[in-house]
Amino acid sequence: MQKKIYERVPAANPELPERIGRLNELAYNLWWAWNPDALYLYRKLNKTLWDHVQHNPIIMLQEVPLATLKKAAEDPEYLSSYDKVMADFDAYMNDKNTWYNRNYPNHSDKSIAYLSFEFGLHESIPAYAGGLGILAGDHLKESSDMGLPLNAIGFIYNQGYFVQKISEDGWQETSNFYLDFHKLPIIPLQYEDGSKVLVSVSLPGRVIYAQIWKMQVGRISLYLLDTTIPENSSYDQQLTAKLYTADLETRISQEILLGIGGVRAMRTLGIAPAVWHMNEGHAAFLALERCREMVEEGKTFEEAAAIVRKSDVFTTHTPVPAGNDKFPIWLIEKYFAPMWQKLGMNRDQFIDLAKENTEWGEQFTMPILALKLSEHNNGVSALHGVVSRNMWHFLWPERKVEDVPITSITNGVHSFSWLSRRMGLVFDEYLGTDWRMDPDDPKNWEKIDEIPDQVLWDVRRHQKRMLNNYITRAARKAWLTGSVHPVQIIAGGVLLEPDALTIGFARRFPTYKRGYLILRDYERLIRLLNDIDRPVQIIFSGKAHPADEPGKLIVQQLYRAIKDHRTGGRMVFLEDYNMDIARHLVQGVDVWMNTPRRPNEASGTSGMKAAMNGALNFSVLDGWWAEGYNGMNGWAIGTEQEYSSNEAQDDADALSLYETLENEIIPKYYNRTDPAAPSADWMPMMKNAIKTLSPMFSTRRMVSEYVRKMYLPAMENK
Ligand SMILES: *Cc1c(COP(=O)(O)O)cnc(C)c1O
Repeated sequence: MQKKIYERVPAANPELPERIGRLNELAYNLWWAWNPDALYLYRKLNKTLWDHVQHNPIIMLQEVPLATLKKAAEDPEYLSSYDKVMADFDAYMNDKNTWYNRNYPNHSDKSIAYLSFEFGLHESIPAYAGGLGILAGDHLKESSDMGLPLNAIGFIYNQGYFVQKISEDGWQETSNFYLDFHKLPIIPLQYEDGSKVLVSVSLPGRVIYAQIWKMQVGRISLYLLDTTIPENSSYDQQLTAKLYTADLETRISQEILLGIGGVRAMRTLGIAPAVWHMNEGHAAFLALERCREMVEEGKTFEEAAAIVRKSDVFTTHTPVPAGNDKFPIWLIEKYFAPMWQKLGMNRDQFIDLAKENTEWGEQFTMPILALKLSEHNNGVSALHGVVSRNMWHFLWPERKVEDVPITSITNGVHSFSWLSRRMGLVFDEYLGTDWRMDPDDPKNWEKIDEIPDQVLWDVRRHQKRMLNNYITRAARKAWLTGSVHPVQIIAGGVLLEPDALTIGFARRFPTYKRGYLILRDYERLIRLLNDIDRPVQIIFSGKAHPADEPGKLIVQQLYRAIKDHRTGGRMVFLEDYNMDIARHLVQGVDVWMNTPRRPNEASGTSGMKAAMNGALNFSVLDGWWAEGYNGMNGWAIGTEQEYSSNEAQDDADALSLYETLENEIIPKYYNRTDPAAPSADWMPMMKNAIKTLSPMFSTRRMVSEYVRKMYLPAMENK
């Protein structure tokens, strides 16, 4: 029989006055993170402290003076917003008339499991590295808004990814931090006697345990595995310390814990998912564990696999063969010999499940394992679907390439997490509030054209000022540490002008994103930046993977240009890219630039966040932008042509980049009499971008596609 499991929400601050006591409950449900009025309840207590605690409401409640809390508990204005927020929160949590219940009333008894290595939910929870994690976080928030019966599994890493510092000569340095779990919105699960809820998996020569924590994301439960418990050796406690360590044994152990431990966690919790969604190949071992369960009950492996395939969903995010997660065969032998016996297979049959011949010999490739054990597969943009069908065609040699069973669902972003509060209020005023109910319905966005240019421009200028203030504060804070060189303060953005044309470029720094492209004709760049009447400024941010030396060299190359007095302090690098920086950038810059080497960008999502906030995209026609660009809602860099060499592609794309800047972007932006006046060339493009891109690239559209194309067929075993 299932032992009953209890959730005891910790008390962040036992002295919290009762009248505002539910601030604690709200701090343990991330719903506050995408509801500005809820967030303001914490921020209003003390704005400076709120920034200081990195927008973490639990630390906020722990650190804010008791007198402040008592004052708030007696302040009629505070209490009236408090009561309103709590009423909204209750209405949200208890709503039975959700999108899902309205559309699929007969499917409410079936649930979906969603497994991912990383989840980017908020800057105060460093459990993400980049786009994959942000997408997973947005998927959960949207699933909550739509009322999907979805439960997620991931890790809580006590050292996160890493903290990035840039040295004076531009070299990326990494430093570590240790998270205190008592300061995170995670709820320990317990049995009646107070003991922890654990799952175990076998690794060579030992069994390891993971404690299950729960994070509440609106209506969605995210279960997080954690091995830093005394039941494990100190070595195994390190297993969930960090994201994406380069060490292969750690990596395979993590994936075993996520996939196999994830299935066992669901069993322990008494959840019986009808659908299992693997977000990227990292989670693919779940399919093997599900087969093992059925083989144990008497099925053959083939019978079990046939059932598993129908209910598995797999999303691939990697368009580059080398980028796919893979393991050497000896490692698989070391870790999986007991497993293939349990599956009734021999070594060769088992290795064949995921075998790939690469230039380094045979490898065990996780996306292949996922593709072989799932019938519902997708890439994350239309172009990425094409690339994926070609890349994996060899697995289905008897089929035509267009019949390779990998479809595509283009990524989206969770509007309420990324849209500035002010912009949202302007939309409410001119569009009505229907866009909040159905953000993916283009009809709800048609009235964008009725917003007066001046109104929209005023919000944009406000956003730019917010970004500028944010950058100045960060630079001052760095200067106050006494440990940075003055030129790094200039590189940090103190010479930026709030009213100059501002371009944002923020993302990870793998070579394919070509962070260096803008430097290709350096003299031309310098002329553009320093034009007296029409200056241009560029804000960079992003991390290179600590083991990616070429990526770190790109950061250094950029940083050297940034420090060069000839760039006039108009190029800037913001250290330690995270969701807070991302939000300020996408809300505050005029142009969002992206220069991937086509077709290596699976989708990209940051440009979608920028677009809904009124920034114009200026990007290679790759990933999502190949679908989003319509000739009037931004600009393309280069063409959709294929090139004989990387050099030729870089030359052509850099040329296109400079020409478009000089002939289109700069003149259109500066077609104004003074900075307060909107440009008649710019505003129609901005409106077109908001109108066309917001609905199309919302997670509402994306998750409803997942439901229709993947989850329902999987539920119905089709
Ligand atoms: C949105 C976002 C990303 C993804 O950016 P792309 O390069 O467009 O995929 C990465 N990191 C952070 C912090 C983000 O907010």
